[in-house]
Parts: sequence; structure tokens; C-alpha cells
Amino acid sequence: MQITEIYSSIQGESSFAGLPCIFVRLTGCNLRCDWCDSEYTFTGGMKMTLEQVLSEIRRLAPVTLLEITGGEPMLQQREVIPLMQQLITSGYTVLLETSGERPLAEVPAPVIKIVDVKCPDSGEGDSFDLANLEALTPRDELKFVLSSRGDYEFARDFLRQHAPVASAIFSPAFRKDAQGNRDASNCLLDPQQLAEWILADGLQVRLGLQLHKFIWQPELKGV
Ligand code: SF4
Repeated sequence: MQITEIYSSIQGESSFAGLPCIFVRLTGCNLRCDWCDSEYTFTGGMKMTLEQVLSEIRRLAPVTLLEITGGEPMLQQREVIPLMQQLITSGYTVLLETSGERPLAEVPAPVIKIVDVKCPDSGEGDSFDLANLEALTPRDELKFVLSSRGDYEFARDFLRQHAPVASAIFSPAFRKDAQGNRDASNCLLDPQQLAEWILADGLQVRLGLQLHKFIWQPELKGV
């Protein structure tokens, strides 16, 4: 498997935000979101065997929450699914962060899928494969990263159109060139504005801020 980094930090997103978490970040992505903060994963990385990855994860004990992310981890489905199975067997709570562009049907059932449905202003708005809705369970989470009113309406209408099969998170996009300030001035969409829209429409969604961007300098990687 081609790996960019394995490290432990505080989970910044999803309903697990705030918990210590191990991140296994795979190399490579087939999308190019305008606000992507993980472009360093597009190339490079290190080839590692399943046993080498597991050994590195064990070194980060006692954390037992683990996220497999990227890039797009499902591009390495053949290697990453056995990794997920092994981690579940070993007692980890496993999260998979994916765009949902690749098929998700083979992901082991105990894995909690955090599916980042791309909105129009990301530049990858049509990438989510609707067939993947069949693979979602109420334990999974749909994430919408928003940078405009148009993105918000896309996400709202998506949820109205497709009966909620998973919980949903609306998260303001962060400027990818953000530096210095650890505050909401780096958000492309003002969280206060987003909160007002959610309340006005009576949406039962979670407003998510990328916690790690408020704890550490926004330009830092590997946190
Ligand atoms: S899917 Fe993720 S890693 Fe890939 S371009 Fe979009 S934000 Fe970046």
C-alpha cells in the first residue's frame, strides 16, 4: 500500500471530533477539489506492507480510534480492505474518509464511512456515485464541505431528495492558503451564516468545524 503518513492527533471532524485518533493517510487521489488541503498526498509516499502498517499503528497505542483517509483511500481497495478487516479484528473503531466516487459495497460492515459528498464549488460536484447510498447505514456520516450559498442549497436538497440513510455534517470549507490565524476568518463560508441557514431551514444536521484548524496553525500538516 502507498502511504503518505501515519500519526496520532485529535480527530477534527465527524461526530468523533475531539477524540484522540490514529490517522492512516494513503497516497493518491483521483479528484482535484479547489480547496483541497491535502495536495501533498497526490504523489510520493512510501510503499508499506500490511504488516508494516499494522506495526506502525501498534506503536501509537493506546489510541483505539483510527481513521483511514487520503487522498482517496478506496483507490487502493485491494490492499485497504484487508487492512480494515485486520483492524476491526484487533478491536479498533475504524473510520473511512472517502469521497464516495469509488464503490463502497465491499467495505466491511463495522467500518464507519464518512462520505464527503462534493458540492459544486469544489469543482468536483458530480463525483459522488449515487449507487453508494445503498451501502450506507445509519452509523455512517455524509459530510458536505460548503463554500457558498449554492453549495448549501445543493447539500440541503441532496438530503431532502435522498431520504437520510446516514447522519449529515455541514462544514464550512477552509482556505487552502490559510496561515497564522487559528480562527473562523479562514473559512470560505462564515460559520455564523451557515448556522443561521441551518436553523432557518429546520435541518437536522450537525454543523462541523475542522477542529484541528483551530487547535494548530492551519498550514500545519500531520496534525
Ligand atoms: S478528494 Fe480529498 S484529497 Fe482528493 S482533492 Fe478532494 S479534498 Fe483533496
